[in-house]
Amino acid sequence: MSKVIAVANQKGGVGKTTSVMNLGAGLASAGKKVLLVDLDPQASLTLSLGYREPDKLEASVADIISRVVNDEDIPEGLGIIHVSDNMDLLPSNIQLSAVEVSMVNAMSRELVLRYYIEQAREKYDFILIDCMPSLGILTVNALASADSVLVPVQAAYLPVKGLQQLIKTIYTVKRRLNSRLSIEGILFTMVDRRTLYAKEIIEEVNEAYGKSIPVFSTEIPISVRASETSMVAKNIYDYDPKGKAASAYSALTQEVLKHGC
Ligand code: ADP
Ligand code: MG
Repeated sequence: MSKVIAVANQKGGVGKTTSVMNLGAGLASAGKKVLLVDLDPQASLTLSLGYREPDKLEASVADIISRVVNDEDIPEGLGIIHVSDNMDLLPSNIQLSAVEVSMVNAMSRELVLRYYIEQAREKYDFILIDCMPSLGILTVNALASADSVLVPVQAAYLPVKGLQQLIKTIYTVKRRLNSRLSIEGILFTMVDRRTLYAKEIIEEVNEAYGKSIPVFSTEIPISVRASETSMVAKNIYDYDPKGKAASAYSALTQEVLKHGC
């Protein structure tokens, strides 16, 4: 059984990419076969994993999507980069922006990525999709492909309004396109428990959503070391194994494993 998790929030800078990278590494080191899909034309995940010139890659997720749109065969392993033991990456680059525009007129445009993901499921235990900061057609494609959504929320500003919009989109996709879609959980990121503000926001989100939507008991603390990982192209366990962010991401990994498929 495989599980496909879309990591989504239309707000940028909330820790989506960092969470995909480190949850992915955690699951891989727990022995799971993991595919990370970069679905952001800005290619932050691809860059963070050390592929510094995404525009020069031979193939990327953009090629996959345009082949599905044009009903062309997808050669085995097209675009896949083997990053480390148990972990593959389907990278992205700026081409994805052009492909996104071309999807608008495609047949079943919301289900283009799902066609590919359904085949990829056979080879992996977990597929994590790093969404771009929008609720456009690519994110809807990710939600239509996924079993669940993980929603990183930065505990440093009032996120409630943006969350409502995201949750509405999730339920619309669930009703119309993908009835198995569930919410894996809200994940608080960049938490600074010393500030009253962070505590208030966490409480507020818990009050507004906690009864209807799961919230991870793990919180990701604010950490300079975590913010450096994309620059040094290392996951948090390799870069700062004894730090608080590494132990938080490792606890998150355990929670996700416990949720099961
Ligand atoms: P998104 O993918 O949602 O845009 P990122 O994962 O790229 O968000 O994170 C946004 C910025 O915050 C990046 O510069 C990243 O390095 C930094 N960051 C991520 N997690 C943490 C953390 N726990 N503590 C401090 N900075 C973080
Ligand atoms: Mg990102």
